[in-house]
Amino acid sequence: MENQERLHGGHETLNKPRPGDFCLVCGANPAVIGVFVPEKPTAWRAAKDKSRFIRYCLCGECVKKPDIQATVEKIIRAELEGASIENLS
Ligand SMILES: [Zn+2]
Repeated sequence: MENQERLHGGHETLNKPRPGDFCLVCGANPAVIGVFVPEKPTAWRAAKDKSRFIRYCLCGECVKKPDIQATVEKIIRAELEGASIENLS
């Protein structure tokens, strides 16, 4: 669950690499760090008055995929729902 963050302030620290980071899609070393901001926080189990930011990393190969945003959202949604992450591609 290291790709999820509940924030109470700015998110500048989200864009810094951390030990244990890995590509959200394939698990390789990350090349890009992104922050996913759900359009409807309440649909993502966030409190009504709080925005939820979800940090994720992608490797240099996965970030080039044309449908990577949809894939990222699919994986993050699955993680939030507690589902196992398998065979999403
Ligand atoms: Zn990857």
